[in-house]
Amino acid sequence: MTKRVRLREELSRQRTSLLTEWNFSLVPPSERASYADPADQASNDFEQDLTIQVRTRMIARLKRIERALQLTQTKSYGCCRQCRKAIPYARLTVQPDALFCVSCLARMERQHYGH
Ligand SMILES: [Zn+2]
Repeated sequence: MTKRVRLREELSRQRTSLLTEWNFSLVPPSERASYADPADQASNDFEQDLTIQVRTRMIARLKRIERALQLTQTKSYGCCRQCRKAIPYARLTVQPDALFCVSCLARMERQHYGH
């Protein structure tokens, strides 16, 4: 099995588990809202906010994985979008949807935080 095939499989696996989590998060919150206590209601609102945050993150992650899966069909997969150098395989095994190499990422973060 080539490295690329292995990374593709890892991406599909992560995609499947995200989709499973997603379905799980779709359990209607109303099932938990049957307690009429106002304090419970407040914590329920908080839980819903949290659910929205979690879902937003999941969608973002899912999009990155989908894009990476498409990229694996092209030559640019595994290359840094910034410096075009190959991203080390070790890094891709940890984060198969990585778009940047570690040094570019570090540089971008430094620029972002203004140091
Ligand atoms: Zn780079």
